[in-house]
Amino acid sequence: MQTYDVVVVGAGLAGLQCTRLLAGHGLRVVLVDRKQSLEQAVHTTGIFVRRSFDDFALPPACFGPPIRHVSLYSPHRRCLELVSPRDEFRIAHMGTLYTRLLKDCRAAGAEWLPATSYLGSDASCEGSLVHLKVDGEPRTVAARYLVAADGTNSRVARDLGLSLNTDWIVGLEEVFHDVPLNGPPRLHCFLDHRVAPGYIAWIAEDGHSVHVGVGGYPAKFQPSGALDEFRSTVGSIVQLRSARLVDRRGGRIPLGGILPNLVNERGLSIGDAAGAVSPLTAGGLDPCLRLSELAAKVINQFLSTRQRSHLEAYDGRQFRRRYLVRRALRTAFSYAAYNAVLEAGFAVLNSRPGHLFAERVFFGRGSFPDVLTSDVGSAAARSVAKSVASTGKPQNSQTISVN
Ligand SMILES: Cc1cc2nc3c(=O)[nH]c(=O)nc-3n(C[C@H](O)[C@H](O)[C@H](O)COP(=O)(O)OP(=O)(O)OC[C@H]3O[C@@H](n4cnc5c(N)ncnc54)[C@H](O)[C@@H]3O)c2cc1C
Repeated sequence: MQTYDVVVVGAGLAGLQCTRLLAGHGLRVVLVDRKQSLEQAVHTTGIFVRRSFDDFALPPACFGPPIRHVSLYSPHRRCLELVSPRDEFRIAHMGTLYTRLLKDCRAAGAEWLPATSYLGSDASCEGSLVHLKVDGEPRTVAARYLVAADGTNSRVARDLGLSLNTDWIVGLEEVFHDVPLNGPPRLHCFLDHRVAPGYIAWIAEDGHSVHVGVGGYPAKFQPSGALDEFRSTVGSIVQLRSARLVDRRGGRIPLGGILPNLVNERGLSIGDAAGAVSPLTAGGLDPCLRLSELAAKVINQFLSTRQRSHLEAYDGRQFRRRYLVRRALRTAFSYAAYNAVLEAGFAVLNSRPGHLFAERVFFGRGSFPDVLTSDVGSAAARSVAKSVASTGKPQNSQTISVN
């Protein structure tokens, strides 16, 4: 039986980032995904925020042009224009980005098993026995540590006894090419309970592609019908008549905030499996990068020393406290079940303080709490983590940045 230091299940952004860093620490890592190719079944729009570019070395060739403009629409299509002096967003070519990150993982020494499904795992004295189906054939491997990077409905997290997502919305979008860009690259966000109950509908256009999508609570709408309805109303904003439909993407987005119980001696969860998505903006890509870096450091220290104290730095409760305001706003937003309420809320946003609040939501650096990676597991790091939890501000901390 093959033995690995770490088995990472799921080659989305979280799994790829964690695998690359673990392999860079010299650990024997295998990354598995049920997909044959990472270019297939992409489920995200792929909008990255400025903060990701500030803190991580993302390959520029995998991204479209920068976006500084946001238009926010009320249900009656009144419009609030927000413009940032900085490049705030870029839409990734996700298939190309995943392929590039996978290449980096393999260059760092990680093994890659495509077309491989995770079936289950059992505790063993060394860690876990992980049951896989590789190209249709059952195979069991031994792992000292197991990483759940398998998305919102994580089977791995369930088998590890970690917290699971219970609150999510569903997003569905179409991606078009050959659409003339009317003005600067822009995100258009629509408040409309009919087509996006509890979330927003969107158009993201950067001159390379146009993404038209809807999101909302699954019990309150039918995504495909809502997308048809929404698309039929946006002719004055984007010209889709001669556009080429190149992709249709969709999936669950966890919105309950980061989960409390993310780690134990057998494994941990990252990305959507950890609920690491902003409850307000539903942005999950920046949190994937951030949390995976912390996870890789914690795993490396735990496997080198076997001291449980190193795992404490990965306690989801320390981040969860920092989500309190965003979770409260999400709850309020999910209860705005009538367009009249949204229209009234929009009027507030149109005031000066409302405008500042909207700028903060769209252009702020708060999509995910900074995680502290200096000397992870040490008493110093624990006291810094406590200071963040109590004051909301890191003291003497080093926030992550990637090579
Ligand atoms: C429609 C939509 C639009 C979005 N747009 C944005 C956006 O613009 N910006 C943003 O920041 N966030 C966005 N999000 C959220 C963001 O995409 C996610 O938070 C992020 O992609 C999560 O990455 P992940 O690696 O945790 O999970 P995933 O990308 O879901 O990766 C999980 C991987 O695990 C594999 N897997 C699952 N089960 C198994 C198994 N049993 N065996 C083997 N492999 C398995 C899957 O094949 C998959 O490759 C969007 C989400 C949706 C649904």
